Amino acid sequence: MKAQKPRRRRKVVRQKNCRLCENKIFNIDFKDVELLRRFQTEGGKILPRRITGNCFKHQKLLAVAVKRARILALVL
Ligand SMILES: [Zn+2]
Repeated sequence: MKAQKPRRRRKVVRQKNCRLCENKIFNIDFKDVELLRRFQTEGGKILPRRITGNCFKHQKLLAVAVKRARILALVL
């Protein structure tokens, strides 16, 4: 039998609730670059929901907004 390495669980700081719901933002404007950047990595990727803690609805809206903004080259 191989000796098992102790596996370390990655701790992810969880934000339980959706920040967009909290701030009552229900239409995400793709021109709102500041907002969109908050939900992206430095490389310009959209952060997954398990990290941002967004609800499904907002994550979807956000993804659409980011994609639109990309077309106009507002964000990476
Ligand atoms: Zn939400």
